[in-house]
Amino acid sequence: MIVPRSVKTTCPYCGVGCGIVADVASDGGVSINGDTEHPANYGRLCSKGSALAETIGLDGRLLYPEVGGARADWETALDLVAARFSETIRRYGPDAVAFYVSGQLLTEDYYVANKLMKGFIGSANIDTNSRLCMASSVAGHRRAFGSDTVPGCYEDLELADLVVLVGSNLAWCHPVLYQRIVVAKEKRPELKVALIDPRRTTSADIADIHLSIRPDGDVALFLGLLRHLASNSTIDADYIARYATGFEQALAAAQALDRDALIRRIGVPHSQLEEFYDLFAVTERTVTVYSQGVNQSSSGTDKVNAIINCHLATGRVGKPGMGPFSVTGQPNAMGGREVGGLANMLAAHMTIEDANDRDCVHRFWRAPTIATKPGLKAVDMFRAVGDGRIKALWIMATNPVVSMPEAENVRQAIASCPFVVVSDVTADTDTAKLAHVLLPALAWGEKSGTVTNSERRISRQRSFLRAPGSARPDWWIVTEVAKRMGHAEAFAYSAPADIFAEHAALSAFENIGTRSFDIGAYANLDSRAYEELEPFQWPCRVNSPGTARMFAEGGFYTQDRRARFVPVRLTAEERTTSDFPLTLNTGRVRDHWHTMTRTGKSQRLSQHYAEPFVEIHLEDAKRFRITDADLVRISTGLDAILVRALVTPRQQPGSIFVPMHWNDQFASCARVDRLVPGMTDPISGQPASKNVPARIERF
Ligand code: SF4
Repeated sequence: MIVPRSVKTTCPYCGVGCGIVADVASDGGVSINGDTEHPANYGRLCSKGSALAETIGLDGRLLYPEVGGARADWETALDLVAARFSETIRRYGPDAVAFYVSGQLLTEDYYVANKLMKGFIGSANIDTNSRLCMASSVAGHRRAFGSDTVPGCYEDLELADLVVLVGSNLAWCHPVLYQRIVVAKEKRPELKVALIDPRRTTSADIADIHLSIRPDGDVALFLGLLRHLASNSTIDADYIARYATGFEQALAAAQALDRDALIRRIGVPHSQLEEFYDLFAVTERTVTVYSQGVNQSSSGTDKVNAIINCHLATGRVGKPGMGPFSVTGQPNAMGGREVGGLANMLAAHMTIEDANDRDCVHRFWRAPTIATKPGLKAVDMFRAVGDGRIKALWIMATNPVVSMPEAENVRQAIASCPFVVVSDVTADTDTAKLAHVLLPALAWGEKSGTVTNSERRISRQRSFLRAPGSARPDWWIVTEVAKRMGHAEAFAYSAPADIFAEHAALSAFENIGTRSFDIGAYANLDSRAYEELEPFQWPCRVNSPGTARMFAEGGFYTQDRRARFVPVRLTAEERTTSDFPLTLNTGRVRDHWHTMTRTGKSQRLSQHYAEPFVEIHLEDAKRFRITDADLVRISTGLDAILVRALVTPRQQPGSIFVPMHWNDQFASCARVDRLVPGMTDPISGQPASKNVPARIERF
């Protein structure tokens, strides 16, 4: 007998973090609607969110633990995982093991995984697929603000007079934010939108100006903007004098560049560039939204700081309708950042390099040890798996054999690892096939916890479906292994509410306003208050209702509480050669998510694009004798794939675009990340997935 009910939860896809109401009928049927009261979406949902009910069936689910390919009970599987990790640590040291986790995990899952690795194993070898998503924004925020803090909120997109979209196809990748801008523009046609993207994506449909810059031309574009702002006296000298340092050095770095070389590098006509620069200069209420086109680059961190420099220079930070705005790809990339899910961070936005931070976390956890140096970031982690330095690997809620750069090398590395654990929802992902132990995790709709969206808003995910088979929450799986490794007391949680309260208490522990991430108001919440938790924006200190905007009047998290201008420089980004004359760019389509383990279940979502494809401009199609719908082979220095040609004027001549979603299960030989080398940003370690030299030929 099923009791009909209505449950408020949060979408499991992108970083907009839309509120959802799931209605469960007495026959078990589920209907999904947008939560009209959630401040992220006020009832709106995109195609993916609306189709969630079509993806919650149990086909393809991992429902029971498996050891060596055979069904096992939990005791056997957990005992084996704990024993093999403990034995590997005893024989080879803590850095011989690693966790690779995911922005799909809930904050509570993330928190215990990070705590186990950094405080109880004593290594920082825990990294996340969020490394592929927004690590450059984290590094850029920390360089400029002294903390990983997004200054504004979604309402700013509606209050702005100019929204600049940089490397962001918001229309497909963050559709509800795009819809909010569309509606705001209908109400106020004077709201201008500028799109900066080599591709003429669907987001161009609302753009008043589209700058089709050269791949990785963003740093040059914003260096040019800083020069323009200085020469047109649109600098906010008062804001800079009060709240920032380093302006002269950043401006000098921009002014040292040859003007014509800069324009060539940006790759758009001078008149169009001037039009954009003038628009930015005269429009006080400007928000610059940026996403993977900025982050997934070998100069990603510099791109972020080049954007932030322009906002600091004009004092347009954290005020209504103004600010630099990083939008994250995943539902809980932000929550992972908060608990230290990145290999170079500690919990509560503290850093491993800082001895005081290490000491603080060490004492709070009453841990036997604490990681003393940053761990391996994603690309280096899988290389260490491949060369044998890492001998036991636990992959949680992600599919790196499809989504990592140099994906075939990653597959071979995992296949060669002596002990691989995969905890996931789906039974037969390309990664799960390589596991020695498979642990069934709860899926969206079954699990409970919290997530944080791109505007720092923490919301609840709530369960409304019964746990199937013997699937368990990720936090439970990690804590059961931790207990078996000898840490029973430190991992004695009975529910996610216990973990969230500890996470909140740590954020406030010895935090005298010196760390931006503070949710101390929730340090003592009980399970009932957790169940009723309403969405709120951090920081949310004791006696504070949460914080919509930050830094309008300084208060940065550097030692002197001032922001830092970062003098960024141009680096060589031209990579094409006579053998590989095209630039390959990868990204998302509107209706699929990551490696399609969930959206691939919906026929409706699969209708938008039924098979993998490559977008190619008409001129290039002619040059390479390709016609629409031809089967083509795309090669890079690493590997080759076969996909269908889609000839379109939206693509910039000289570059091609292939979506990231398909794997060899949905279409043989279409795993695009096989083509992407593991080149990374030197500061953030984020892979450069959007500027890969490639060749195309008809198959
Ligand atoms: Fe989900 Fe993002 Fe769509 Fe909102 S915009 S419904 S969070 S996928």
